[in-house]
Amino acid sequence: MNTSEKLQDIQKALENFDAQLIAVSKTKSPAQIWEAYEAGQRHFGENLVQELTEKYEVLPKDIIWHQIGHLQRNKVKYIAPFIGLIHSVDSLKLLQEINKQAVKANRVIDCLLQIRISDEETKFGLEYADAIELLRSEEYQELQNVRIVGLMGIASNSSSEKVVREEFKDLKVLFQGIKASFFRHDDFFKELSMGMSSDYKLALEEGSTMVRVGSLVFGERDYSQKDEDGN
Ligand SMILES: *Cc1c(COP(=O)(O)O)cnc(C)c1O
Repeated sequence: MNTSEKLQDIQKALENFDAQLIAVSKTKSPAQIWEAYEAGQRHFGENLVQELTEKYEVLPKDIIWHQIGHLQRNKVKYIAPFIGLIHSVDSLKLLQEINKQAVKANRVIDCLLQIRISDEETKFGLEYADAIELLRSEEYQELQNVRIVGLMGIASNSSSEKVVREEFKDLKVLFQGIKASFFRHDDFFKELSMGMSSDYKLALEEGSTMVRVGSLVFGERDYSQKDEDGN
């Protein structure tokens, strides 16, 4: 199958759900992204800021770019002028920096709080209690140029469907709790970013609104040249 056919395949699986495909293009060339773009794909996800900004420069400006990997505070300034959605907010300090750079860029930046749903030590993300504390804090209330539009989570790299499904279910419950407590009247708080190549169908069944699919669209990644930044 070529890229266009693979995209069609995934879009077909999404048909019965109210969900969007984020094509994860990290390590893939602008030419490969262009191929997906020509097939109609507009949302792309990257995890390294330098790679993302290089691709932004050379690719069509109606692409909506998603920062999906761990984001260092000193890198925020490079993506603030154009980023569509930051999936990986895992601290108040990071959110404050995003707000600061958003003010400079004269825009409001949409963000997701990344929640740690797996027991794996390597995964970034806020514990549920920390997410609540962040949302309750005065410092957060003061931020005018960031908008939290939902939650993101990465399930365990487990072959057990039961384990993965439980993690997605937990995230959905957290989402509903946070929605009720903090965003009851905010229609924009509606995104649940969960599901990757191996588990996006499960994630859709459990209420995902954004699946982040890489290898199933572009083929396996070659990391021999690159450092994956912990993801
Ligand atoms: C790389 C990555 C993906 C895509 O992974 P695939 O298994 O290739 O679909 C999704 N989400 C995050 C956060 C990633 O870093």
